[in-house]
Amino acid sequence: MKAAAFDYVRPASVAEALELLRRHGDAAKLISGGQSLVPALNLRLLAPEILIDLGGLDLRSIAMDGGVLRIGALARHVDLLNSALVAEHAPLLALAMPHIAHPAIRNRGTIGGNLAHADPASELPAVMQALDAAIVVEGADGTRRVDARDFFTGIYETVLAADEMIVGVEIPVAEAGRRFFFHEFSRRSGDYAIVGLAAAATVAGGTASDVRLCYFAVGDKATLAEGAGAALSAGPMSVERVAAAQAALAEDLSPQDDQQGSAATRMHLARVVLARATAALFDDPALAGRTAA
Ligand SMILES: Cc1cc2nc3c(=O)[nH]c(=O)nc-3n(C[C@H](O)[C@H](O)[C@H](O)COP(=O)(O)OP(=O)(O)OC[C@H]3O[C@@H](n4cnc5c(N)ncnc54)[C@H](O)[C@@H]3O)c2cc1C
Repeated sequence: MKAAAFDYVRPASVAEALELLRRHGDAAKLISGGQSLVPALNLRLLAPEILIDLGGLDLRSIAMDGGVLRIGALARHVDLLNSALVAEHAPLLALAMPHIAHPAIRNRGTIGGNLAHADPASELPAVMQALDAAIVVEGADGTRRVDARDFFTGIYETVLAADEMIVGVEIPVAEAGRRFFFHEFSRRSGDYAIVGLAAAATVAGGTASDVRLCYFAVGDKATLAEGAGAALSAGPMSVERVAAAQAALAEDLSPQDDQQGSAATRMHLARVVLARATAALFDDPALAGRTAA
């Protein structure tokens, strides 16, 4: 199928893009890399009257600013994959990037488009939450920074208002002693995950603190597993502590059945990957143990 007819405009500034959004309201759609939007247009799942192409805006930079890594909304997946700043200051993001789609898609897809799309199986919403990032949003009333954990509200849903756009993300740089883990189960390399986990923790003296475990593809949005994180931080690490954290996932997560896997399979994989994460964070393979079905 082909997309329904639409008008097209390419603003030269964020202010102009916001004015176009205000003027056209629900009839307009922003387009960045087009990697999610164009298939939806071609399948006629969406039929906007006008596309506002953000491609001309100066929002592609990746830069350090004090203790914060600032990434423009139009930074492409390939930019993040190849960035020395990302590798040094946001190593979890660097670990995740090779799992996102394939080179052709990474060459066009953007971080802003990916986060706005809010696919529950997407890696970046989970990474942003595990890294305690802020998503920078601009609208008619100015700029607001939304904690990544508050940004995603459901399947393909965010707190973005119709007259707002993402202009960037801000990631606090990794502190010394901070450790990271990323893994996803998928049927083939480049496919969306069946279950994935982005994790960060400070590990010292046999204990973990400030544990952030963010699962994706397990519910209607990327979800921080707070109970499991608290269980892992509650004392010296042991196989029993890992088991307690795995048990806590029953409260933290709401996996769904779909053609990729059942809710029970997803919960099992969530527990397996939690044990693997702990083993990797502590550099102790024995912690991976065996996960009961
Ligand atoms: C075959 C295939 C495999 C893929 N695999 C993966 C994968 O494994 N993991 C993964 O995460 N993604 C995957 N993707 C999606 C890809 O990462 C896209 O880049 C991403 O989902 C959307 O980014 P984009 O820049 O192309 O956004 P677009 O397609 O241009 O836009 C997506 C949505 O975001 C809105 N939007 C765009 N920019 C902004 C902005 N700055 N502010 C507010 N709203 C905005 C648009 O209006 C639209 O609703 C895959 C895509 C394909 C086609």
